[in-house]
Amino acid sequence: MSEFDLIVRGGTVVDGTGEPRRTADVAVRDGTVVEVGKVSGTATQEIDADGAIVAPGFVDVHTHYDGQATWDNYLQPSSWHGITTVVMGNCGVGFAPVVPEDRSRLVELMEGVEDIPGVALTEGLPWTWQSFPEYLDALETSAHDLDFAAQVPHAALRVRVMGERAAAHTLATEEESQLMAKLAAEAIEAGAVGFSTSRTLNHKSISGELTPSYAAGRDELVTISRAIGATGKGCCSWSPTGTTSPSRPTST
Ligand SMILES: [Zn+2]
Repeated sequence: MSEFDLIVRGGTVVDGTGEPRRTADVAVRDGTVVEVGKVSGTATQEIDADGAIVAPGFVDVHTHYDGQATWDNYLQPSSWHGITTVVMGNCGVGFAPVVPEDRSRLVELMEGVEDIPGVALTEGLPWTWQSFPEYLDALETSAHDLDFAAQVPHAALRVRVMGERAAAHTLATEEESQLMAKLAAEAIEAGAVGFSTSRTLNHKSISGELTPSYAAGRDELVTISRAIGATGKGCCSWSPTGTTSPSRPTST
């Protein structure tokens, strides 16, 4: 009986640790790499990788598959390029949490910020969720070629809590900040890998409105960040701007 399930033989191993590439065999048992080097045993399946790179996979830390992942199992073109994990929900944009009356606003924002055609989003998004945990459940209803990690996006969170006032760049009240913090922490507990926000002038909806998170006050951001910190999980990612606008309200 073979000692391994799979041996990839003689490839050029680039293991992601920063070590120089080297020629080696890679042996796998029960879905886990158990030996890298000169492997002398046998395997149920052996692959001759001479002349090929053997790598553990690539993580793309900045993508916007938030919509596509709900209707597409292949996540192309990333899967074509050897990506094995995508992080999505960057730049503070995405589709949860959401209430039905704000769906088109989030589509217009994604269309403007990331140049994803609104018609594709409108046709494709099934909107079987309102909360972020429900969105994660929706993603899990089908298998995907890649792993993905979703962030809870600040623009969606702000619109969910503040409605029109979020889009108008009004400062959040203490109660609104607390509710955003609660929902963000719930998202992290449900499996979101982090929280993302944007303050860049480049992030506008298709109709030219600056992203709702653009002028969020310091207190709001600190309140949300503290709630996420209290979970002991997750990360916060920020798209900052080097430019200030005279229309930005003074944070409290
Ligand atoms: Zn982005």
